[in-house]
Amino acid sequence: MERSKGIKNWTHADAKELYGVDYWGKGIFDISDKGELLIKLSNSDRENWISLYEIARGIKERGFSFPVLLRFSDMLRWRIEYINHAFQKKINEYKYKGGFRGVYPIKVNQQEQVIEEITHFGRPFHHGLEAGSKAELMIALAYIKDPKAMIICNGYKDSEFIDLALYGLKMGLNIFLVVERPGELSMILKRSRILKVEPQIGIRVKLSATVGGKWAESAGDHSVFGLTASQIVAIIDQLKQEEMLHILKLLHYHLGSQIPDIKDIRNAVSEASHYYIELVGEGAAMGYLDIGGGLAVDYDGSKTNFVSSRNYSVDEYCADIIEVIMETLDEKEIPHPIIVAEAGRAIVAYYSVLLFNILDVNRLTQVEKKQNPQTSDFAVCKNLVEVYNSISVKKLQENYHDAIHYRDEIRSLFLIGEVGIRERSEADQLFWKIIEKIYKLSKSLKYVPEEIQDLNRIMTDIYYGNFSLFQSMPDSWAIDQLFPIMPIHRLTERPLNPAIVADTTCDCDGKIDKFIDLYDIKRFLLLHKLKADQDYLVGVFLVGAYQETLGDLHNLFGDTHAVNISLDENGEVEYKKELIGDSVSDVLSYVEYTPKLILENIKQTAERAVKQKRITALERKTIMDAYEEGLAGYTYFES
Ligand code: PLP
Repeated sequence: MERSKGIKNWTHADAKELYGVDYWGKGIFDISDKGELLIKLSNSDRENWISLYEIARGIKERGFSFPVLLRFSDMLRWRIEYINHAFQKKINEYKYKGGFRGVYPIKVNQQEQVIEEITHFGRPFHHGLEAGSKAELMIALAYIKDPKAMIICNGYKDSEFIDLALYGLKMGLNIFLVVERPGELSMILKRSRILKVEPQIGIRVKLSATVGGKWAESAGDHSVFGLTASQIVAIIDQLKQEEMLHILKLLHYHLGSQIPDIKDIRNAVSEASHYYIELVGEGAAMGYLDIGGGLAVDYDGSKTNFVSSRNYSVDEYCADIIEVIMETLDEKEIPHPIIVAEAGRAIVAYYSVLLFNILDVNRLTQVEKKQNPQTSDFAVCKNLVEVYNSISVKKLQENYHDAIHYRDEIRSLFLIGEVGIRERSEADQLFWKIIEKIYKLSKSLKYVPEEIQDLNRIMTDIYYGNFSLFQSMPDSWAIDQLFPIMPIHRLTERPLNPAIVADTTCDCDGKIDKFIDLYDIKRFLLLHKLKADQDYLVGVFLVGAYQETLGDLHNLFGDTHAVNISLDENGEVEYKKELIGDSVSDVLSYVEYTPKLILENIKQTAERAVKQKRITALERKTIMDAYEEGLAGYTYFES
């Protein structure tokens, strides 16, 4: 049961605990004494805690309406440096003789700003890019200037893809073509002969090690990617035959994203190390072991092997990988390879925060008309009235069962036409009054029966948020991914309303009804009562990985506005790279409408109405102006 804390005694520290800020916020989110959520930003010579509510206010003053995606480049710098330093620290500590090279997988967030900033912040570490398609390779070719940074080409390749990679090599870029399918090698060798450039190749192995988490199927015998032991043998034989074993330099595997358990990571790198030893033994040049992605993000802050978390730190991840490789290779006296990691999520998750306003609240338990549940004008409701009047702490569970019984009885009578809508409405209202009273009384109990505890869930209000789940956090819908979510202000006021959050699509899946919790999944989020004269602003955090590009146009809600936030030289907030979200006209054209044509259609309808004297010519103009304005407007609700 939730701790009983008076409204007056509630402080920002209670809010911090309630929303788990210290757990998922990793020292970069905090709450001010004023009750506003803060983010820590820094530039080359200073650091400052900035209120997200102040940022939101600034955005509004600049004419943007919500929802808005905030992007913090500083988070990219922080994560790139963090991961590179963590590997380097462990390399020094363990006296590992190979090095470390990170490559950022473009697919995780392909936005131009992200790639530009990752390649910029990654330069001191020679942090490269991973490309899984022709388009991504084209990005990598254009943005990597550092000849030491690696470009890893994964994914299925046609000759055009291979040619682009070979041209990149010719220009001095450090490109690796990773063979994923048996037939790819012949194509790579053929194209390299034609273009007269020697490729560097890697092979992706299909490990038998499996993992927990949501991407369990990316690994193991049934994974769709990678080569089996026999396919690898065939590739080695082909390379031997063509006297090209010296071009095989890299072994790659990818277990899947968000691997929560360090044990799985250790098992996989151990199996891969044995493959590596075999490849060296066969005479391949080798030198690189690419451990793929999978470094998880602790979305709920629980530090467990739960799917939204991870039971290891970045330091432990680096230490375990290095340790396992060393243990396995040293035994066979094989030189330590350069470890290549394709961490994506762990680099960009913190980059973006979605901010939206709450449009309205629907309170199931709100019983406006039925002020007095102690009586009823309807005979059929008399049992419910009796239940209400007899509620006592000693028999709460019995009262609860009775209420359900009599409510269901009235609903059945409604179905056979023996009870009308007014009686049914009265019965519903009485029922909620009973539930409310039972719930309130249950708070004084030491032991609360499970079904009464669950009332919290039944009693949740629906807060309607101005955003589309499908556009801005598709993983929440598709794979039940949990993201931290909380109000960004009023955090010195105790939130009293258990709520779920519905989006603006008219899809019953368009809701968030599972929330982070240290020990479990919370089925409601405590939110504040709305104030008539103030926006209530909610943030969804750690949405920088995968969400933007996987998002779709469900109900034709388009891209949100996006603003890049950083610190200027005085440590003040700087609003940069403001991107206007999609207009209605934009999203219509994405689904192949021609805005000009539909404008013409509506004009004809309006003109017909003028001729039929349904509207005046002046009204036609008003209607057309409204329609045109609508086409140019934001796809979300504008106040
Ligand atoms: N490498 C490959 C081949 C991938 O398919 C992916 C994505 O699943 C990644 C790296 C990135 O994984 P993560 O975001 O978990 O680091």
